[in-house]
Amino acid sequence: MKTKGSDKTLVVFGVIIVSLLGFLIWGYSQYTTLDKLQKELILEKKTVEEDLKAKTEENVYIFSKLTAEQQKNLSFENQIKDITSQVGTLDKLSKTDKELLQKYSKVYFLNENYVPESLAPVPNEFIYEKDKQIQIHTKVLSNLTDLLRSAQNNSMDLKIISGFRSFGEQSVLKGAYTVSFGSDANKFSADQGYSEHQLGTTVDFTTASVGATFSGFSKTKEYEWLLQNAYKYGFIISYPEGNAYYQFEPWHFRFVGKQLAERLYVEKQNFYDLDQRKIDAYLINIFD
Ligand SMILES: [Zn+2]
Repeated sequence: MKTKGSDKTLVVFGVIIVSLLGFLIWGYSQYTTLDKLQKELILEKKTVEEDLKAKTEENVYIFSKLTAEQQKNLSFENQIKDITSQVGTLDKLSKTDKELLQKYSKVYFLNENYVPESLAPVPNEFIYEKDKQIQIHTKVLSNLTDLLRSAQNNSMDLKIISGFRSFGEQSVLKGAYTVSFGSDANKFSADQGYSEHQLGTTVDFTTASVGATFSGFSKTKEYEWLLQNAYKYGFIISYPEGNAYYQFEPWHFRFVGKQLAERLYVEKQNFYDLDQRKIDAYLINIFD
């Protein structure tokens, strides 16, 4: 009975041992499978990562190449734009009459055959002698009428007594002045002033009270108004008081464009004191 009992115990013990062993073997086999799987996963991850890295590098390379290409295109585009604008500037300049900003003197004057490219009549309401026809450079007309309307709105009695004068008309006028004023005619109708009238961009102002002799024009409120406002419309007084070049002509205003006129006004300079090369820089924008 005792032996039978210890046999039973042995059997149970044996079964437990075998079960334990079996479990251990199963556990180990599970462990090695997992380990193998993990290693495989790590390897796969590495491959995917390397692949991704290679693809990213490729993309960066393509992108940089693309950017370089785009920049090349952009700079080419800019060059084209530059060239186009330069051609435009040159074209505009070639079509702008260089005489319009010339300084005239006894040594440099306008050719007697010179005529402005186009002339237009000054509206009758602004003309001193009602039935007289006065013409001005077509491109200057709107600036002049703007000036005259603004003067009118400020209760100024400004009228135009002279605009474009051809070489022939000027000779007749000078003759007439000489008859009326003798040798004094040279003081306000000499060779220098006529060139500016022949350009078509120059006018002589007067008022009803001053009339055709211009006498006392420099004492009028209209003259003061012109000194402070004419530049806004591109006009300047060619021969201001105390200038070193010519007889003081308070009524004689020339169109030089808004940009140059404003510069002369701000810097309190005279057109005839400015270097011709500096003046020429304003030619391109004279009608802007
Ligand atoms: Zn004049």
